[in-house]
Amino acid sequence: MEAYILIVEDEEKLARFTELELKHEGYRVDKAMDGRTALEMATSNDYDLILLDIMLPELNGLEVLRRLHKEKDTPVILLTARDAVMDKVSGLDAGAIDYITKPFAIEELLARIRVTLKLRAAMAGSAAAVNSPSDSAGQREGVLVWQKLEMDINRHSVKYDGHEIELTNREFVMLRTLLENMDIVLSRDTLLERVCGYDYLGETNVIDVYVRYLRSKIDEVYNIKMIQTVRGVGYVIKSE
Ligand code: CA
Repeated sequence: MEAYILIVEDEEKLARFTELELKHEGYRVDKAMDGRTALEMATSNDYDLILLDIMLPELNGLEVLRRLHKEKDTPVILLTARDAVMDKVSGLDAGAIDYITKPFAIEELLARIRVTLKLRAAMAGSAAAVNSPSDSAGQREGVLVWQKLEMDINRHSVKYDGHEIELTNREFVMLRTLLENMDIVLSRDTLLERVCGYDYLGETNVIDVYVRYLRSKIDEVYNIKMIQTVRGVGYVIKSE
């Protein structure tokens, strides 16, 4: 079945253009021109993806994102203005899965959409595994361990010393990649490919942003040094 996408954009031409392109790709598309309508539509329909402009009348995009994610975890790609670095960071903080800077090439947007939908499909698969009756508590398969940290891939959960740590999808993939490659220094490019998909066209410093998020959620809270920076190369988690 075709993916169902909501476009939230108040610039009428851009909204119309994007709608036509997405329909041409075979997606089912709805459109909203202000934040309040967008939030209503996003909570009452089951979209596979939302493209969300930040500067919107009535309710801005970040507020829409915050309120929406209290109710459901529909993936959101933010449409941001060129120099709005703070918007990007607060958007990722608020749970956006990606952002694209306007004006964008339609091929780039379509590539981001494909990556996000693939990620969503993978997430749906792991959510199904959590609910399956064969998923017994004693099973250790799919669990990555580092000191007191435990990552359960199938349950999509991370615990430190038994305390649950809330991670976004991207942070989870990033930590998983580092844990699966323990003692191997991974470059920003390698991490970017694993975390954002091979056709991600954004800046590699987004990896530094995710490392900062992970450190603030884990290293700083539990006073440990889990993710190590190897200057000029990348990042590593060491087993000892
Ligand atoms: Ca706008």
